[in-house]
Amino acid sequence: MATACSYFKFELIQGDRTGPRLGRILFRHGVVETPAFFPVGTVGTVKGVSCSELEAVGVRGMLSNAFHIYLRGNLDLIRRLGGLHNFVRFKGMIITDSGGFHIKSLAQHTRVTPEGMQFSSPFDGSRHFLSPEEVVHIQEALDSDVKLPLDVCPSYPEGEKEQEHATRLTLQWYERAQQAVKKPDQGFLGIVQGGFDEALRRWAARETVKFGFHGYAIGGLSVGEPKHLTFQLLQAVNEELPSEQIRYLMGMGKPQDIVTAVEIGTDLFDCVIPTRNARNGTLYTWKEGVIRIRNSSMKDDPCVIEEGCRCPACAGGYSRAFLAYLYRCGEMLALKLLTLHNLFFFQTLMNRIREAVKKGTFGELKTQVLDLFGED
Ligand SMILES: [Zn+2]
Repeated sequence: MATACSYFKFELIQGDRTGPRLGRILFRHGVVETPAFFPVGTVGTVKGVSCSELEAVGVRGMLSNAFHIYLRGNLDLIRRLGGLHNFVRFKGMIITDSGGFHIKSLAQHTRVTPEGMQFSSPFDGSRHFLSPEEVVHIQEALDSDVKLPLDVCPSYPEGEKEQEHATRLTLQWYERAQQAVKKPDQGFLGIVQGGFDEALRRWAARETVKFGFHGYAIGGLSVGEPKHLTFQLLQAVNEELPSEQIRYLMGMGKPQDIVTAVEIGTDLFDCVIPTRNARNGTLYTWKEGVIRIRNSSMKDDPCVIEEGCRCPACAGGYSRAFLAYLYRCGEMLALKLLTLHNLFFFQTLMNRIREAVKKGTFGELKTQVLDLFGED
């Protein structure tokens, strides 16, 4: 079973195997209350926003990517400068993704062999090979709070045989990854794969649990399959996972997806949605749902994005008209302010979710979110 881990500990406060849960993650630099949402900081930074600005809007953690940092950074230098936290100056929790998904989706000439993954860098074409062991060592060098094992993520749709092969190979790699661990005090979450067949997913969840990880990520969902299937598979996995350990749904983060996943026992989320959408001018609000700063109605709108919002854009009194002007002029400040608003919205959403679970009013909040943002 799981070995002692001083970088990461999850405590379930309320709830059970399925249904809305409350918990807390204890990590080196503090506590994260769950359900929680982490933005994506692929190379160790959330685009356009400093770490102090992230902390000011309540962001307590981020998901970075070992594959990107390995290809574009300098592992020895980061290690010498005290690890990723010290290098990027972030005091929140850092989860590093293994890169299994990104090698398959971004890299070129990828070959998955029983030994590992061969690929060409999408940045400079250089040839690389990553084994399950190497991916553990990279993340240990980065000294993130939580590492994830190399996995094979089936595409949708993919044949039954391919899905089963990917699932079995992933499990073989977990065995090697566990044996390669030199830093048992770093959190290590297993990623439940298993494709798009419920029975295979359930089996993959049970098999992944046997490795005794410190908690479980659920990967390979929302890659093109119908939404009802995504949540059917997520519920099946959550039913198989031990209730006292964390369930982290990777890469999904629309507000409507978050409330639906929380309702079936999910604790942690990451997604590019608040930051990428902000850079596209798409903003989240509690009164109007999604609004777009590029709409012509914004050009002479004197209101802030959302009255009462305490993000730097709204609290700073910046009008929609000014933000639309900045955006059209291609000014960097537009991207920063819009990103901070969306990040603040998502932190507020998670605060409201936790409050509603505590009070037993989660159903009302879920209805409100679905009414505002739709179900898809
Ligand atoms: Zn705001």
